[in-house]
Amino acid sequence: QALNDYLDLKGNIRVFCRIRPITEGEKFGSLRPVVAADSCNVVLRLSESKTKHYCFDKVFHPHSSQVEPDYVVLVTEKLTAEVFSEVEPVIKSAVDGYNACIFAYGQTGTGKTFTMEGQPDCPGIVPLAIEALFKQAADSCHSFHFTFSMLEIYMGNLRDLLIPQTAKSTDSVAQCLSVQKDPRGGIEIDNLVTIRVSDFNQAKRLYGLGSRFRSTASTNSNETSSRSHCLTRISMTCFDAPERRRETNKLWMVDLGGSERVLKTKAWGKRLDEGKAINLSLSALGDVINALQRRKSHVPYRNSKLTQVLTDSLGEDSKTLMVVHISPKEEDLCETVCSLGFAARVR
Ligand code: ADP
Ligand code: MG
Repeated sequence: QALNDYLDLKGNIRVFCRIRPITEGEKFGSLRPVVAADSCNVVLRLSESKTKHYCFDKVFHPHSSQVEPDYVVLVTEKLTAEVFSEVEPVIKSAVDGYNACIFAYGQTGTGKTFTMEGQPDCPGIVPLAIEALFKQAADSCHSFHFTFSMLEIYMGNLRDLLIPQTAKSTDSVAQCLSVQKDPRGGIEIDNLVTIRVSDFNQAKRLYGLGSRFRSTASTNSNETSSRSHCLTRISMTCFDAPERRRETNKLWMVDLGGSERVLKTKAWGKRLDEGKAINLSLSALGDVINALQRRKSHVPYRNSKLTQVLTDSLGEDSKTLMVVHISPKEEDLCETVCSLGFAARVR
C-alpha cells in the first residue's frame, strides 16, 4: 500500500536524467564545464551570460555537486545500484499488476545501453529488473508465470531478436511480425517469439542471445543499433491473486535509437533514412507521453510503430519511466539542449 501511495503521489510518469562521465581519453580535450547538476536539477551554460535550467524527478551525475573539468571516471558500480534503487518502484508496480515501460533516451554515445544492458561487471536495468522480478515472485505467496520476448524496431519494421537472422533475411522475417489490437484494448504482436522463463538465469540467457543478435545484425548493416529501438518485454501472469489489478501484464524495457538530429549531421542515403525514421518515432513517443501528461482526450498512438506496440502499456493506467541521457561535453551541447527539451516536454 505504501508503495502504491508513493507511486500515485509521484504520478504515472517519471523523468530522470543521467549524465555520462568524461572518459579517460576525453580528459585531454577541451573541457570547459557546460553542465552542472544537483539531485533534481540540471543547468546548461550556453554562453558566458546565458544558462538554461531543467528539473527532473532525479538526476544521476558523475559528481554530487558540480561537473568539474578534471573529474575522473566515477565508480560505475555504485552509480548503477543508485539508478536501480530509483527504478525499483516501477518493477514493483509490475508485480502489482501495472503495465510499465522504462525508456533510455539520448544521443548516441551518452550511455543508454550502459544503463539498460550494462556491462559484465556492472549489470544494467534489464538484468537487475529480471532478477528483482523473480525474487519478488519467489517472496510472494502467489504463483507467477513469466515470459520473455525481445524485438527491434528498425525503419518502422519489427524484427524478432530471438530468431537468428542475417542481414539478407531480415526483410522477409520482419513482415511476419504485426501489431494487433484485441477487443479488450490489449496489444498483441503476431508471431513474436514468447518464451516461458522459470528462473533468472534462463531469462538472462535469452537476453544475452537477443543482445548478441542485435549487435551482429548491426555490424552487418553499418552499426544500425544506434538507429533502431530495442525492446525487451517481460510478461507476468498471476493465477491466484484476485486483488491484483491484472491477470497478465507487461514490463517493457526500451533502449531507444540515438536521438541526434539527422539533418544536422552529414548523413546521406540509407543513413539519412534511418535517422529520419528514428527522429519521427521519437517525436511520436514524445507526443504520446505529452498528451498523457496533459490529459488530452486524443493520444496519438498510431503515429509510429513504437507507440503502436506500446499502446496498452503507455497510458493513465500504466507506469512510465524515462531516463534521458546527456553528454557532459561542450561539443555536444546542441544535442544536449534537444534531449533536455524532449525531457521537459514529457515531464
Ligand atoms: P549509447 O547506447 O547511448 O550509444 P553506450 O551505452 O554505448 O551509449 O555508452 C558509450 C560509452 O560510454 C561506452 O563505452 C560506455 O561504457 C560508456 N559509458 C556510458 N555511460 C557510462 C557511465 N555512466 N559510466 C561509465 N561509462 C559509461
Ligand atoms: Mg546503445
